[in-house]
Amino acid sequence: MPVIRYDARGQRRYMNHAAHAMMKAASGGSSAPDVETSVLAATVQRQYLDAIREVATTGVARELELTFDGLPEAQREYYLVQFTTDPVQDGTTGVLAIYFNMTAGKRAEAKLRERESFLESLLDTIPIPVFSKDRQGRYLHVNRAFQEFLGVPRERFVGKTVFETSPHELAQTYFSMDEALFEKGGIQRYEFKVQNAQKDVRDVEFSKAVFHDDQGRQAGLIGAILDITERKRAEFEQRMQFDQILRLNKSLEVKALELSDARAQLMTVLHTIPDMVWLKSTAGVFLLCNHSFEQFAGRSKAGILGKTDYDIFEAELADFFRQRDIAALDAMQVCIDDEWVVAPANRERTLIETRLLPVFDAGGTVAGVLGVARDITERRRFEERLARREHEFRTLVENSPDTVARYGKDCRRIYVNPTFASLSVGGADALLGKAPSEFPGGPDTVLYEKHIADVFATASDREFELTWQANDGRRLCHLIRLTPELGANGTVETVLAVGRDISELQASRVKIHRLAYFDALTALPNRVLFNEHLRQAISVSLPDHVTAVMMIDLDRFKGVNDTMGHAVGDELLCEAARRLLACVRPGDTVARFGGDEFAVLIPEVSARDVLEQISATIIDRLDEPFLLGAREVFVSCSVGIALYPDDSTDAKDLLRYADSAMYLAKRSGRRGYRFYTKELTIEATARLSLESELRRAIDQGELELYYQPQILLRSAEVIGSEALLRWNHPGVGFIRPAQFVPLAEETGLIVDIGRWVLREACRAATEWNSASDKSHKVSINLSVRQFQARDLAVTIAEILDETGCRPEWLEFEITESLLLEEDDSVMTSLLAFSSMGISIAIDDFGTGYSALSYLTRFPIDTLKIDRTFVQQVTTDRRHAELVKAILSIARCLGQRVVAEGVETTEQAAFLEAHGCEVAQGFLYSKPLPKSAMPSLPRRLHPNATNEGKL
Ligand code: C2E
Ligand code: CA
Ligand code: CA
Repeated sequence: MPVIRYDARGQRRYMNHAAHAMMKAASGGSSAPDVETSVLAATVQRQYLDAIREVATTGVARELELTFDGLPEAQREYYLVQFTTDPVQDGTTGVLAIYFNMTAGKRAEAKLRERESFLESLLDTIPIPVFSKDRQGRYLHVNRAFQEFLGVPRERFVGKTVFETSPHELAQTYFSMDEALFEKGGIQRYEFKVQNAQKDVRDVEFSKAVFHDDQGRQAGLIGAILDITERKRAEFEQRMQFDQILRLNKSLEVKALELSDARAQLMTVLHTIPDMVWLKSTAGVFLLCNHSFEQFAGRSKAGILGKTDYDIFEAELADFFRQRDIAALDAMQVCIDDEWVVAPANRERTLIETRLLPVFDAGGTVAGVLGVARDITERRRFEERLARREHEFRTLVENSPDTVARYGKDCRRIYVNPTFASLSVGGADALLGKAPSEFPGGPDTVLYEKHIADVFATASDREFELTWQANDGRRLCHLIRLTPELGANGTVETVLAVGRDISELQASRVKIHRLAYFDALTALPNRVLFNEHLRQAISVSLPDHVTAVMMIDLDRFKGVNDTMGHAVGDELLCEAARRLLACVRPGDTVARFGGDEFAVLIPEVSARDVLEQISATIIDRLDEPFLLGAREVFVSCSVGIALYPDDSTDAKDLLRYADSAMYLAKRSGRRGYRFYTKELTIEATARLSLESELRRAIDQGELELYYQPQILLRSAEVIGSEALLRWNHPGVGFIRPAQFVPLAEETGLIVDIGRWVLREACRAATEWNSASDKSHKVSINLSVRQFQARDLAVTIAEILDETGCRPEWLEFEITESLLLEEDDSVMTSLLAFSSMGISIAIDDFGTGYSALSYLTRFPIDTLKIDRTFVQQVTTDRRHAELVKAILSIARCLGQRVVAEGVETTEQAAFLEAHGCEVAQGFLYSKPLPKSAMPSLPRRLHPNATNEGKL
């Protein structure tokens, strides 16, 4: 190692051998120079000397690098000179310069620097951004591309870490990635997004690797940034394209599948349809056929496809088919034919309807003939049957007694049958094309059209009754049945109307209705309809209002009927009805219950005095004279009123109560009205109980007959007796007929009682007449009601037969009114009695409205002069004259006269003096029980004790 020693002034004092050689080499000469300065550059000389002096003065060692630059570069050596003090010699401070040859290192370094700069320029020439960092993460180097890419000068990076160059978050990522690389080693690649100089975000790929120093320690990393934006886009586009291709492919697959499905489906459809389908080439070779065709041909597909008609059918038929194909091909359109052919499969004659259609290929040239054929044998047969049936049906309709019409959707007629035509003015021509309301018209026809429209809308039947006028002016009633006629699509095409003439039925229905609800004589509602109205009125009655039921009975009507005949009585009733209607409001009901009994229903009355007014009006109106024929007749009426809901809420009760009130009005002197009171019910109940008691009396034998003798005035001889009814009521004693006979007549009980009286009286007559040689005639009172029981004559014949009573022992007493009955049955009965030999007496003669004509018309034997005349015969001249007149008429007509109620000898004397033969009365005897009769003397002289007794 070269070592040189200097003194403090820098004078060389010593140099070793190596230094010597070094100097020699440095001067390029044969010997070493005296001073180092000659081989050093001026600046370096100064530094060299300064360093020596400095070390000499300070004693602090120093270093200096130098080279001897007198030599060409290649021969130069480089040294590091270390200056240290060397105090050892002669007390002065010396400085040692120790030369360390650094040439090799310097050269290497230069080489390195050279390489580095080469690398640098190399790196700068490559277009990829490259960077390197040391182990601490400081940028060592970045190339030009890096700077350009990021738009930042190199100086901003070199020597700095990412934390100084990038935002913190990003820096952290870079840092972690770098650390990961240092940890794992190898090459690190990852994609990232980076903002470039143009502020565009680019896709980049970082490629990094670790580099090592001489000792193999990690010295840093080097990385490259690849802009892969374009690649990525290309990749993306490629992927998209790929996807698209995939999709396309998929859809093509689906299409293909669908197509084959469709074809399979089409074949299935073709196989399932009952029609035969086939396809032949133009040359006539079968290309396709369905099952139906296979069946028809009687062979499977294999035996058909690829074959011609000649392989399948008989020559003649094949010829025929071939011709038809050719015809269709020529015609270039669908050809339809019906043809009878023999099916190869079953050898049956079949009618097939064939459609042949030329088909074209994709190029538009004719490829073959498509055939579709249908077996229409059945259809044809069906059509024929249908036609036959329709003919039959038409014949039926044309000859039907019912009217038949067919209507179109506009309700106008399309068809009418002869019956209908014959009933209408103008016949079929007038009916066809017209709606019912247009012809024949009429109030019902609008409804008729509504019904027709309904049938069109609902497709269901309708029935209704139509009243219309026929061509002869008669009003006809037809029961019309409307039936929808459906078209092929199931909707109603036409409506058939069949009408049956029910005019007669309708007329009798109206009549029945009238009979059931109306009074035949006055046309007023009857009891049934009245009750209906009453119940209805009750159901809708308003609060604070009453509904009144009025019963109205004509007083003295019976008399008019009896004396003037029923026709007049009827006229009176009709007029009375008119007057009643005039007394009430239109909504009120006036009804006739029968006889002279009327009822009025007055609903919704707010006050009682309204009813009093109405009642008064009714009474006044009926008080006015009735002009019947040429005569004025006077009747009056009694009115009874019951109120809903005051008296009862029950319709039946209300009627009963009004009736009771009416009876009260009658009893209290007639010509008046009475409202119902509770007391009336009690009375009515009493009447009711009397009725039921009377019924019981018949069964229990409480009835008894008393007999009042009749004597011959001239001899006082008893010639007969009148049977008089008594009711021996237990607990009450004897009840007089006046108290129960009217009720018995009213209720009809008199029929049973009368039969009992007849039987009882006949027995008595038989007894007395059989026991004596003198005849004793028993008089029996017959009530009108007994004649109304039809078989009176038969009953009497039976009783005579049963009791052994002879007809001549009997006399029937009837009242005048009976003879006024227009009923033939009275005459028939009387003639029957007469022909049997029973005599007939007119009771109470003179009290009736004596129409004396009946005396000659009927077989009357006896007239019984009424008690009222007899009793005044001696006191009242007019009565005396009347009695005389009766006696003379009787004499003329050859009739016997019996005087009733003879109480005094004067009366008896008058009667005898004027030709009356027979008398009956208390003067001779009261009515006696049967048991007293046998002991009666033959002659009954006027009885002093009886005389004057009433
Ligand atoms: P009549 O047929 O006029 O009967 C005569 C009535 O006069 C009897 O009343 C009798 O008792 C009464 N009488 C008889 N002599 C006198 C007299 O001197 N002075 C008075 N003041 N009266 C006298 P009676 O028995 O009460 O009968 C009343 C009526 O009842 C009868 O009237 C008759 O119309 C009816 N009647 C009686 N029995 C029957 C019967 O069996 N059948 C029917 N249908 N009616 C009968
Ligand atoms: Ca009598
Ligand atoms: Ca009498």
